[in-house]
Amino acid sequence: MADDSIAVVDLDRCQPDRCNYECANFCPPNRTGKDCIVTRDEHYEENEPYDGAPDQVWISEEICLGETCGICVEKCPFDAIEIINLPSELENDPVHRYGDNAFALYGLPVPEAGSVTGILGPNGIGKSTAVKMLSGELTPNLGRHDEEANWDAVLDRFRGTELQNYVEKVIEGEVTVARKPQYVDQIPKQFDGNTRELLEVTDERGELDYLIERLNIAPVMDQDIDSISGGELQRVALAATLARDVDFYFLDEITPYLDIGQRMTAARLIRELAEDGERSMMVVEHDLAILDLLADTLHVTYGQPGAYGVVTDPKSVRNGINEYLKGYLDNENMRIRPNAITFEEHAPRESVSGRPLVEYPDLRKSYGEGEFSLEVDSGTIFESEVLGIVGPNGIGKSTLAKMFAGGLEPDEGELDFRLDIAYKPQYIDIDQPMRVDAFLASITDQFGSSYWDTEVARPLQLDPIMEQNLTDLSGGERQRVAIAACLSEDADLYVLDEPSAHLDVEQRVQATTAIRRYAENHDATVMVIDHDIYMVDLLADRLIVFDGEPAEHGHASPPQEMREGMNDFLADLDITFRRDERTGRPRINKPDSQLDREQKREGEYYYS
Ligand code: ADP
Ligand code: ADP
Ligand code: SF4
Repeated sequence: MADDSIAVVDLDRCQPDRCNYECANFCPPNRTGKDCIVTRDEHYEENEPYDGAPDQVWISEEICLGETCGICVEKCPFDAIEIINLPSELENDPVHRYGDNAFALYGLPVPEAGSVTGILGPNGIGKSTAVKMLSGELTPNLGRHDEEANWDAVLDRFRGTELQNYVEKVIEGEVTVARKPQYVDQIPKQFDGNTRELLEVTDERGELDYLIERLNIAPVMDQDIDSISGGELQRVALAATLARDVDFYFLDEITPYLDIGQRMTAARLIRELAEDGERSMMVVEHDLAILDLLADTLHVTYGQPGAYGVVTDPKSVRNGINEYLKGYLDNENMRIRPNAITFEEHAPRESVSGRPLVEYPDLRKSYGEGEFSLEVDSGTIFESEVLGIVGPNGIGKSTLAKMFAGGLEPDEGELDFRLDIAYKPQYIDIDQPMRVDAFLASITDQFGSSYWDTEVARPLQLDPIMEQNLTDLSGGERQRVAIAACLSEDADLYVLDEPSAHLDVEQRVQATTAIRRYAENHDATVMVIDHDIYMVDLLADRLIVFDGEPAEHGHASPPQEMREGMNDFLADLDITFRRDERTGRPRINKPDSQLDREQKREGEYYYS
């Protein structure tokens, strides 16, 4: 058979008592009397330990005919089976396989003392698995899951490679690790107490006060962890990780819920710690502008989430991101996506031709005496346009949306309309014990129509999670369901607050396409608040720029053309972008570099 293919059975989905073994009944080798698909009970010797229930299936990768057959994949009513022909370019056996017909990981990232290693790729591709091995928590079994895993074999495998020294240290028990988890929203469920109590125990380098100051955590030091916002949690989690004194720091996504200024600060702190000496930093990040700024080298990961993952050898950050966006990895000779992701170098979409949705006058709103106040410049919003909303956290973006919805009266200026607003909040709390399909069907009677499938379900990759409970979803899955729920409502204005959070780059691009198409096809107006500059670039027709002093006073510009808006926004942040020569992709300039100074002088912060 195709000796380079693997069969993956999702044991959470395989339910033989409800399907009558359609997979085995139709499998061509089975029909000629071979044991290609059998129950686990039939396959394993008595007393031999195995994963799964006795009646769940085991598939022989020796006998299976491979992806071109795929009959069992089609027959399984629960989408529990995947048969995948691995790329022939893969030279080695897996570094680890969780068991028979389970996820396989090929290659490992290389931590390097004194530098920041970036990892770029989809979720579910084995990044956490790799880190568990690099921290010595999980012994790689080199895919030979029937034999006992041992580190000596691993050392043999990596002898003569960049990983040899590192693996030796792991074996000696010399590597200490600190880890920042991906889903900071989960922290309050695991920790009972206030910020001070959480941080106190982490101060191993005596740098905690410095981190608290740089990350602006002081205002929430005495607040209970379960009462602080996602952006605050993200900064507390960063401080807690960076305050430790270890050899290897692993940071799984640093940007969700942070505004651009906070993202840049986080990136600088990580670089400072790497440059401090013998420490290695490894960062998974989907905000490409920040990853570009942050990492020294980059591993791209690809494969099929949940089935197998491949970690490439290290690349330069510039080449790694360029190849990733191009959809083709040069050294590996691998196409990872049919189309390239491209950016327009010149300010696009000069004007908006739609009909006005609303015109609004200058507005003012303040909360209480001397608390936050907001000033809004008058403007016109058009149908079928996507408005990007940019500005720091706590500057009044939600306050403006609430006034448009009629839930909040302005102190000055009158709004003679009241828009029906569909709103996707920044922090998504959909913890009802309900299945995804039932939840979405309760929002729209279009649910399940071919139109809804094409416009919403497919680009947001909802199919594989339709039968899951909302409470069991990962952060990225929850985000996709929340975007779908928002777009499925009947409204005049759709407001999406940070749709990029926890989505990988691929998913960000697909969500962007879904949102843009939705606006065009429904004469709908969409406002998207986001801090990922690539996402804003790909998504927005025009921009409303907020500036001011967070939590004190804010000011909102009228909707403006992209060039003008980007210039205003980036001038306020004091950041300029140059263009990558080969791909035209925007890259943050080093402060005070020649290009940075030139562009500031010319007032061109983003487009050439
Ligand atoms: P990432 O960090 O890239 O999101 P992970 O390393 O967490 O990915 O997981 C990769 C895949 O390995 C997932 O599909 C997951 O289902 C599978 N996996 C993780 N842990 C186990 C385990 N203990 N047993 C079997 N499969 C696992
Ligand atoms: P953004 O959406 O830009 O993060 P918001 O509009 O939510 O900002 O909030 C702006 C500021 O107003 C914040 O400092 C917030 O704490 C404060 N604020 C928001 N709602 C209220 C309220 N109901 N009462 C008092 N202050 C509020
Ligand atoms: Fe059998 Fe393999 Fe075909 Fe599935 S893909 S039916 S296991 S031969």
